[in-house]
Amino acid sequence: MNILSIKNLTKTYSSGSRKLTVLDDVTFDISEGEIISIVGPSGSGKTTLLGLCAGLDSGSTGSVTLAGKDLQNLSEDQRAAIRNQSVGFIFQNFQLLPTLTALENVMVPLELKKRKDARAKAQELLDKVGLGDRATHYPTQLSGGEQQRVSIARAFANEPKILFADEPTGNLDTETGEMIEKLIFDLNKEEGTTLVLVTHDLDLAAKTQRIIHIKGGKIQEDAHA
Ligand code: ADP
Repeated sequence: MNILSIKNLTKTYSSGSRKLTVLDDVTFDISEGEIISIVGPSGSGKTTLLGLCAGLDSGSTGSVTLAGKDLQNLSEDQRAAIRNQSVGFIFQNFQLLPTLTALENVMVPLELKKRKDARAKAQELLDKVGLGDRATHYPTQLSGGEQQRVSIARAFANEPKILFADEPTGNLDTETGEMIEKLIFDLNKEEGTTLVLVTHDLDLAAKTQRIIHIKGGKIQEDAHA
């Protein structure tokens, strides 16, 4: 069963009279429970592709079917509802809300789901990522690795069917990177969550079951281990 199906996806940006094609006729499927990485040079379209797969943005042509729903014909609000239902996203630059504490950041998706136990569940998730004692800290009071772990706890909060992570170990020291890697892979092992990782870390990519190479917005290779 496919959790994600991308067909002939193209994304173009216009700047003045010029058109920039960032994704060019991309087609692939991802099965439930699969672990895949997307690799390629800087500027090749990886982040754009991940955002389209997760419904953060919509493509120019083609289709994205996520958890059985065709995202291309949906409004931003409808896409947001699907994201909140099925998707976890770990951003390259964490994207924590600066005015909220670590705990409150993790509570956001839980409150959107109107969970009465949002506070307790968020604390449990912070404990899981080893930051139980940082609950009242604001993002600026946390190191990069700690902020990344808060963003992981937030991504885990809505028990996603599929987790997208954009350079989850980028800019982190080896030890912190390994801890984050383990948290993400354990989610697949324990919950069967599908993992889609954008990475330039070839050691990390080599641990995934499948590697999609992208260059100039096109898939160059789709290699299964
Ligand atoms: P990667 O993640 O592989 O480094 P990106 O997906 O971030 O690549 O970017 C691919 C290309 O799309 C780059 O040339 C970038 O400048 C361009 N791009 C990304 N977002 C926008 C945008 N909102 N408007 C115009 N061009 C963009």
